[in-house]
Amino acid sequence: GIRNLSDLKKVAVLGHGNGGTVYKVLNKKNNSFYALKVLRFNQDGIGIRQSATVLEAEILRRVDSPYIVRCHAVFDNGSSCNEAADNGGDDLSFVMEYMEVGSLHDVLREHHRLPEEVICVLAKRVLEGLNYLHGMHIVHRDIKPSNLLVNDKGEVKIADFGVSHVVEGRFDGCELSAGTCAYMSPERVDPERWGGGEEDRDEFAGDVWSMGVVMLECFLGHFPLIGPGQRPDWATLMCAICFGEKLEMPEKASPEFQNFVRRCLEKDWRKRATVKELLHHPFVNRKCCCTSKGLGDYVFHE
Ligand code: ATP
Ligand code: MG
Repeated sequence: GIRNLSDLKKVAVLGHGNGGTVYKVLNKKNNSFYALKVLRFNQDGIGIRQSATVLEAEILRRVDSPYIVRCHAVFDNGSSCNEAADNGGDDLSFVMEYMEVGSLHDVLREHHRLPEEVICVLAKRVLEGLNYLHGMHIVHRDIKPSNLLVNDKGEVKIADFGVSHVVEGRFDGCELSAGTCAYMSPERVDPERWGGGEEDRDEFAGDVWSMGVVMLECFLGHFPLIGPGQRPDWATLMCAICFGEKLEMPEKASPEFQNFVRRCLEKDWRKRATVKELLHHPFVNRKCCCTSKGLGDYVFHE
């Protein structure tokens, strides 16, 4: 295990998110790479630390699934044992499995769109991951391309779950990448109208919605709920999510894929498919879904 932050040497910045930075780090003890996510608190109101933080961090460490990015260690108030300790800033650091290829967001930026044989493998893995988390009564709440990471075998895993409980989300700057509300379900965007918060079940349904948006985005090559030219500000997104017309399905998509996405993007969460139902859906049980290498061949040999 990793005992001390000082065993880790930062070698590169992998990206910035909503109140944190992710570094590629070398563990000097075993000469292998990890990703280190450092969340900063108490700086100009970025990230409000919650009392349950340490407990959440404990849950993070217990999660053990091939479909979830592993968290090897959590350091609370990391700055105090870091060489760079300076102003007593309040840090929380997560040592994670290093995912060599980066996020699905990066993959989409490079490949623009993905074929159904790849998407069905992606969808199946994300469903397996959600099934595991939901079975542990954990809701992800932030399924989006930048939180689905890819390793050098082309395997996709869910990242950042629970971090959304740790950090108070900021939904004002509605950019389509980091800290976005674009993948939020109608019952989270407008609970009064769509009956959110009535039961715990709607929380799980929110993850299904977000996954549906992501899979459709993979097919189309752009965020599906608003036009490519439209500004993704809060008002536009909220209208699209809560009042958008019946979704225009891409003609070229197979009937199985169209149905799969429709079942995810059912606005009324009570009618939306559950993760368990979707695991039996024909789209993720087609022959090509079992034989396809998913992103494996794709990202490396395109
Ligand atoms: P948010 O803060 O809303 O989650 P985000 O996902 O873009 O937004 P981070 O979670 O901080 O922000 O991650 C930033 C970027 O760092 C990711 O988009 C990804 O490219 C990279 N990254 C994160 N975790 C890992 C990891 N374990 N291995 C490799 N790269 C990672
Ligand atoms: Mg993230």
